[in-house]
Amino acid sequence: MSFKKLGLSEALLKAVEKQGYDTPSPIQEKSIPLILEGSDVLASAQTGTGKTAGFTLPLLQLLSQEPPLRNRPVRALILTPTRELAAQVYQNCKQYSAFLDLRTAVIFGGVNQKPQVATLRNGIDVLVATPGRLLDLHQQNVLALNKVEILVLDEADRMLDMGFLRDIKRIIATLPQKRQNLLFSATFSKEIKQLANGLLHQPILVEATPENSTVDSINQKIIRVDKAQKPHLLVKLIKEGNWKQVLVFTRTKHGANKLTKKLIAENISAAAIHGNKSQGARTKALGGFKSGDIRVLVATDIAARGLDIPLLPHVVNFELPNIAEDYVHRIGRTGRAGASGVALSLVDIDEMAYVREIEKLIEQRIVSEVLPGFEPENQLTPGSKSAKQNNRNRNTRNSRPSSKSSHQGNQNRPNRAKQGGKRNVR
Ligand code: AMP
Repeated sequence: MSFKKLGLSEALLKAVEKQGYDTPSPIQEKSIPLILEGSDVLASAQTGTGKTAGFTLPLLQLLSQEPPLRNRPVRALILTPTRELAAQVYQNCKQYSAFLDLRTAVIFGGVNQKPQVATLRNGIDVLVATPGRLLDLHQQNVLALNKVEILVLDEADRMLDMGFLRDIKRIIATLPQKRQNLLFSATFSKEIKQLANGLLHQPILVEATPENSTVDSINQKIIRVDKAQKPHLLVKLIKEGNWKQVLVFTRTKHGANKLTKKLIAENISAAAIHGNKSQGARTKALGGFKSGDIRVLVATDIAARGLDIPLLPHVVNFELPNIAEDYVHRIGRTGRAGASGVALSLVDIDEMAYVREIEKLIEQRIVSEVLPGFEPENQLTPGSKSAKQNNRNRNTRNSRPSSKSSHQGNQNRPNRAKQGGKRNVR
């Protein structure tokens, strides 16, 4: 299948070619013709599947078929949960509209509103926004939303997780009744279904089997280690493996700062990215990481949401997330678009229960090993809660804690996520 067969215009085909894409991804193949037809679409897709081009390309084509309106009010509105995702979607819009007479802009909080206001006052066709700043500027009468023809909710599940439901409803109330709606989400909770029911008109459901599903292209491994040893182990892995670009996840902002300091003290260039950092600091850290100036980006889950760093070779869970879905999302930062990647989790005894949850979700056992010199010191005393958990794990994994051991689980088990079944994981 080629992009040409999807019905895209010459200007968009040229832009796609400039990006070096030759074949549409599954989500693009399914969603582009439907959106071009004018249908409302409910799509199950996560970052890494090419979803952004899946809605941006047809949206740009639809807008470019009509001459721009006088004063150029917003005609397409794309809402995203995070600033980083907004910035990325905006970049994509710019790239894909390179040969079209369309203006795009991005607005998000955490930065001075003045330049955003100036851009909006000039008139734009496509606006990418996070909900808070959009409402803020709308209340200040800086922009009108009454000419919006197409609304996109990107990563709708994360928007709800982050408490944006009320803001989204308030934004929708300002839009014209008649419009095309596109909702992209990695998971379909009851709340997402409710939102979709209220928003979409006879939607067509589109599901993408992610090319970077956890089971396919990502080499996942657990290294069991005591909590106190984790920083030393990470330093050793980075130095001895000569890792040039690694994304490390911590559970807390404080943990991210602390680890970053330790890495810098070991002469490993590192930066933290989390919600307490200013937008300037976040953009700088991400830029430095992408360009190779910073070897290690230490992130919390929310900050990392939607980050697109092509061909990221290493992801490390310094601490496992307590929500299993977040694990899948984290490791989805590697092995993007079919490229292979390595995802390591440093797991202490207290985190073994999380491992079980994660394995249940992905329906796969993760290889577990212990590295010489980093053997966990104490096996837990029998009878404690974690010890029981640990013993259960040991029985099923057949791993011996104090010697290097590894075990690969049953690879032949059906994988629901891969088959596009009930549970969509990210
Ligand atoms: P997304 O899921 O939209 O975040 O896209 C993930 C990455 O895939 C981005 O770096 C895109 O530039 C890239 N991409 C999107 N569509 C294609 C395609 N058809 N072929 C190759 N790469 C693509």
